[in-house]
Amino acid sequence: MTTKTDILQFPIYINGEWVAAKNGETFEITNPATGQVCAHVAKGTKEDIDTAVQSARRAFNSGIWSKKSPEERAKILIQFSNKIAENAEQLVYLESISSGGTLNRIANSDILQLVELLQETAKFTREYQYVESLPTKTFPGPSDNQVWREPIGVCAAITPWNFPMILAMWKIAPALAMGNSIVIKPASYTPLSTLKLAELAVEAGLPGGVFNVVAGPGSSTGAALVTHQEVDKVAFTGSTEVGRSIMQQAAGTVKKVSLELGGKSPAIVLPDAHLDTTIPGILFGVFLHSGQICESGTRVFVHDSIYDEVIEKLKYAASTIKLGHPLENTTGMGPLVSERQLQKVLDYIETGKQEGASLICGGKRAVSGNLKDGFYVEPTIFADVNNTMKIAQEEIFGPVLSVIRYSDVQEAVDLANDTIYGLAAGVWCGDVNKALPIAKELKAGTIWINDWHMFRSDAPFGGYKQSGFGRELGRHALDEYTETKHVHTSLVPELEQRPWYSILFGNE
Ligand code: NDP
Repeated sequence: MTTKTDILQFPIYINGEWVAAKNGETFEITNPATGQVCAHVAKGTKEDIDTAVQSARRAFNSGIWSKKSPEERAKILIQFSNKIAENAEQLVYLESISSGGTLNRIANSDILQLVELLQETAKFTREYQYVESLPTKTFPGPSDNQVWREPIGVCAAITPWNFPMILAMWKIAPALAMGNSIVIKPASYTPLSTLKLAELAVEAGLPGGVFNVVAGPGSSTGAALVTHQEVDKVAFTGSTEVGRSIMQQAAGTVKKVSLELGGKSPAIVLPDAHLDTTIPGILFGVFLHSGQICESGTRVFVHDSIYDEVIEKLKYAASTIKLGHPLENTTGMGPLVSERQLQKVLDYIETGKQEGASLICGGKRAVSGNLKDGFYVEPTIFADVNNTMKIAQEEIFGPVLSVIRYSDVQEAVDLANDTIYGLAAGVWCGDVNKALPIAKELKAGTIWINDWHMFRSDAPFGGYKQSGFGRELGRHALDEYTETKHVHTSLVPELEQRPWYSILFGNE
């Protein structure tokens, strides 16, 4: 990576080296806070994908990583986490200028999550049950039986632009922990930090070729990766629409697929909720990273008895959120990732008004002072939303909250589940004993009670319904990056005693 007149230049990263794209082409990265080009990145082609996959395959087959002991792999994961901590300032900068994420969040939370995830994964790598011995059974005959967990081979990851480093690491850490090689195609808006992570991993001692990053358009570079004969598994995070296409593309070579897709996560506010925590909690749930998070709490169901009070308090609390340049450390909410995303969100706000929802606050592009060239949208709240409205059913991926009134808890649960998505859901309440039975009924992979966006590196994350399948984080994620092999050794020396002998050769 080099700088030229303040515009960063990034090649792609294959086989432990920075290389230009085969055809020499590059593409621009725009800083969403300013609308200015901040980097040029090599635009990987189908040939570059092939080179990266072949390099990953060679590394895998050589055993240089795949046959290292769990202890050796764990040691390198820890060294990788140290490299991230040492280079945190640069990673924060690269992440912020491309994704629009705030310094406040990336420095104080994302970097810690990356470091902690690698360290926790190192621990899991040592403790993982690679061999399970099954108990002896008399049928179908005495035998020694073991279940082995082995690395899959070459894994591909296609990642989105909202949390580029974190969502890449959710795939990198378990893939490497289990001995796989990996090739990542990051989102075209935000490839910078992922490219840097690959270099840091190699500096930390990971052999070249085990972790490769090729940037380029999803429709060509991404598709070349998903359909490549030598790729054994694809892990994808992004829109449900592209997730469907990934499944179809992967079907040609019957690859394993895990998908983490869209969401429209509901939060139910019970009448006894402590509003001092609930109001900021609801806003944190929906406005963090300007609402560009798959599990954002975008639909909030509020009991009739407190509805008007909650609306007033949400409106006031939203007015205290500071919209600003992401690199200023007082900024609470930064820009949307792109002009395209900005337009998409403004169109949804218009739809909400036309559908008859009441706009309580926000609703416009923010253009005051130094925001005028960036892609900022005011924190927006709609009241009187009906769950059938488009703004309550479709993933907006922007700072837009829909508040829906309910009078009966079962009605709220039914409406909360009335969506194609099932990534997260939550309950805000005073007495948590009331929340647990509701949590049981909510159809979602994660339930937060009196909280939101709280990820743990040892707790699984993933979707029900059209939010995808497979789980990231925790021990469950390691299973997703292994093949399962059953090894049976007969313990019956006499041929005639074998349970199968008489079936084919008779009893004589
Ligand atoms: P996409 O789902 O299109 O992009 C996610 C990743 O998939 C990117 O790396 C993209 O590459 C790649 N990709 C796109 N098309 C293909 C393809 N045919 N084959 C292989 N890879 C492909 O998200 P968008 O950026 O277009 O955002 C659109 C909407 O998706 C958002 O408004 C939001 O609603 C949702 N979204 C959801 C996310 C989540 O975490 N659930 C994250 C991001 C978006 P490239 O960047 O080059 O297009």
